[in-house]
Amino acid sequence: MKADYHMHFEKGSYDKAWVEGFFEAARERGLEEIGISEHSHTFPEFKNLYYEDLILDDSFVGSFQQQWLRSNKFKYTIDEYFVFMHELQKTHQVKIGMEVCNFQNQEKVTDILREYDFDYLIGSVHFLRGWAYDSSEIKAEWENHDLQEIYEWYAEEAEKLADSGLYDVLGHPFNIRLFKILPDFDVTPYLERVAKALAKAKMGIDVNTGTYYRYPIEEISPYPDFMKIAAKYDLPLIITSDAHQPEDCGAYHQEAVKYARSFGFTKMWNFSRRERSLVTLV
Ligand SMILES: [Zn+2]
Ligand SMILES: [Zn+2]
Repeated sequence: MKADYHMHFEKGSYDKAWVEGFFEAARERGLEEIGISEHSHTFPEFKNLYYEDLILDDSFVGSFQQQWLRSNKFKYTIDEYFVFMHELQKTHQVKIGMEVCNFQNQEKVTDILREYDFDYLIGSVHFLRGWAYDSSEIKAEWENHDLQEIYEWYAEEAEKLADSGLYDVLGHPFNIRLFKILPDFDVTPYLERVAKALAKAKMGIDVNTGTYYRYPIEEISPYPDFMKIAAKYDLPLIITSDAHQPEDCGAYHQEAVKYARSFGFTKMWNFSRRERSLVTLV
């Protein structure tokens, strides 16, 4: 079964004309099902968590992030999201998910999400010590950190997400490679730590083409060294586009399937109300 479970409506509004383009692209690429994984920063329920975790001082990073939190964020409640999605489900094959940031207070996240009937949840490391490391506007901050420290932080955050027991999948694993700042030391221990934490939490990986077509690294996440370890731990996977624009839904899907198959993966997950089923990867 062909499905893509990682994409965002947030660049537009919850309006049928805007989202129809995602379904059109899905049809054109032969996807039988898609899933929407709105960022947690779409919803005011998460606002305090961002203000608790992010660097928001007068520094270069803090000033940018203050402004980032003020633009196009927290615009629909989770209830409004579900109402819109249920309406879409009357005419489209679409699942309801969310991509949640690696907040320090995962108990609070659990409380927020408890009452909602999600099909699946993606947990993604978007912040390292309060810094949105993937924002190109503050890319200069990378120069202030030792790369080994960044790998350490990333592994720690991925372990915390896994330990929370809340998520089905780790979003775009090791996208700390996105700016092509690459290690000259052995990162195997970090890859092993993350894979082990995911296996223990019965989580899968998000094989995400977004880093291929939207970022300087131009490679599918996770990169080959982590794919090999994920195969060794037999981690389940999903194949996704991380589309933010309708035409990107399902982008490079077949390339990603071929990529996953080259590491021995033959199955992927389908989701329905937090139940996972393994289906053939095609
Ligand atoms: Zn993400
Ligand atoms: Zn995403």
